[in-house]
Amino acid sequence: MSDSATRSDFIRDIIDEDNRSGKWGGRVQTRFPPEPNGYLHIGHAKSICLNFGIAADYAGKCNLRFDDTNPIKEEQEYIDSIVADVHWLGFDWQDRLLYSSDYFEQMYEWALDLVKKSKAYVCDLNAEQTREYRGTLTKPGRDSPFRERGVEENLDLFERMRGGEFPDGSRTLRANIDMAHPNLNMRDPVMYRILHAPHPHAGDKWCIYPMYDWAHGLEDSIEGITHSICTLEFENHRPLYDWFIRAINEGRPEPIAHPQQIEFARLNLNYTVMSKRKLLTLVKEGHVSGWDDPRMPTVSGLRRRGYTPEAIRNFCDRIGVAKNDSVIDIALLEHCLREDLNKRAPRVMAVLRPLRVVIDNYPEDQVEELDAVNNPEDPSAGTRKVPFSRVLYIERDDFMEDPPRKFFRLAPGREVRLRYAYFIRCVEVVKDEQTGEVIELHCTYDPATRGGDAPDGRKVKATLHWLSATHALPAEVRLYDHLFTKADPDDVPEGQDFRANLNPGSLEVLERCWIEPNWATPGGPSWTDGIQRVQFERLGYFCVDNRDLTPAALVFNRTVTLRDTWAKIQKQEQKD
Ligand code: ATP
Ligand code: MG
Repeated sequence: MSDSATRSDFIRDIIDEDNRSGKWGGRVQTRFPPEPNGYLHIGHAKSICLNFGIAADYAGKCNLRFDDTNPIKEEQEYIDSIVADVHWLGFDWQDRLLYSSDYFEQMYEWALDLVKKSKAYVCDLNAEQTREYRGTLTKPGRDSPFRERGVEENLDLFERMRGGEFPDGSRTLRANIDMAHPNLNMRDPVMYRILHAPHPHAGDKWCIYPMYDWAHGLEDSIEGITHSICTLEFENHRPLYDWFIRAINEGRPEPIAHPQQIEFARLNLNYTVMSKRKLLTLVKEGHVSGWDDPRMPTVSGLRRRGYTPEAIRNFCDRIGVAKNDSVIDIALLEHCLREDLNKRAPRVMAVLRPLRVVIDNYPEDQVEELDAVNNPEDPSAGTRKVPFSRVLYIERDDFMEDPPRKFFRLAPGREVRLRYAYFIRCVEVVKDEQTGEVIELHCTYDPATRGGDAPDGRKVKATLHWLSATHALPAEVRLYDHLFTKADPDDVPEGQDFRANLNPGSLEVLERCWIEPNWATPGGPSWTDGIQRVQFERLGYFCVDNRDLTPAALVFNRTVTLRDTWAKIQKQEQKD
């Protein structure tokens, strides 16, 4: 039975009904079928959560199957990344890591069977002619001149195609359906093409390859898939998949299984492109540093950015599945992330744009170890020690020499609180003689305010984060913004494409940042994926970039800011 207390949607309704009617004998078998021609993205995550989630809810099984029918675009690197990403998202296919290419022989046998039944023929039209004969939505197609070839000739030619006798593109095997069919997919679609290319999984075995439309339904049938869940663009391919299976089953004493295809709306996110072709362009042209650039919507990019699998799974649950296309606000994805990190990420102090502060009345060589709370949301996370000394760094933005009315942070003569430490008052501003830039502040501290409260009850309007200059560790911090400036990246003037909307400010690298020495608190959570995530107080959530780590400095990626636009949108909606 469905875990319907938490999840319910039109697909689970169909499965419930099938289970009631006994259509599959209570069996639920799904699959996630990526083509290994790129890295997985957040849209795939939706499909992964759906397929593996359904299998889990109904005590069924979900296969991970590589739909590897096009060797030209497929690579082992993609296969490896997909395996790693699905695993990282938290799903397990047990021993069912499968490859369509392992079924090529079976598919070939079935193709021979269709030839023998006069349901398929070898066609000598080239690609361009085939397109031309196909007609359009408003114009019926024309029969290929090779449509009436006899069975014997077709068998002979098809076997020789497989034997490698003919050059690429010279012949195809096509289904014999109807060139005037209103559904273009039914106009004698190509089943096999000649392609003298090695295959990442099958090696040199084949020089003819099945087309996706011929292969896909058969793969599902071979694996005993009950519910073949796919995105809406395959809706008008379904009649073809059904035709193929019925054609194979005609006259067959033991019919092959006929899975039920169910289509759902793909995930679209604003400020994001999701097509693999576009993502590949971004990588190839160097607009990003690679498939796992933290600005990419790929699973590996999100991981490197600091996203947790829990946040992504939660997001996929919340958006649910529907039958009609929509665009999801990326603020919702970020909201799910903040929710998770807020619960789990240890708080530490870091200064991204440092300004030196000397506490004039603090003893030269004194160091105090002050107690700091690791996570106010999780008392079990405990506390840690933060060193305090005479020379500190604060954030440049937290000081203004000539503050406007609403600026409550540090200014000449003003007193503020240093978190977990003392009240300090600014007594002098040192500037660069040449540029006039503020380069150092002199302050005094009030020893009676240790811990952050004044015994005489006096108040301050701001609390700043800070670091002891001699104890802080150097770090490089990378700040990210949306990769595109427009909510719809494809909204461009004529003659341009999505690249015109790339955000030139999507990456800002701050090379001279500082972080507290005990940032990797022992009391912090052990992230199951080994990625260290923290909240820099007042600044946002960050994670260690394991890839670009240097011996000289830590490298942090900003995962997400603290400001939650989604929560704001929701509040506004409740008011309206
Ligand atoms: P292409 O077929 O153009 O290479 P694709 O994104 O469809 O790209 P596949 O590897 O075929 O890539 O996708 C694997 C599975 O993920 C398919 O079942 C597909 O329907 C699903 N999928 C792909 N993109 C999305 C998306 N944006 N939202 C939900 N599911 C998706
Ligand atoms: Mg696809």
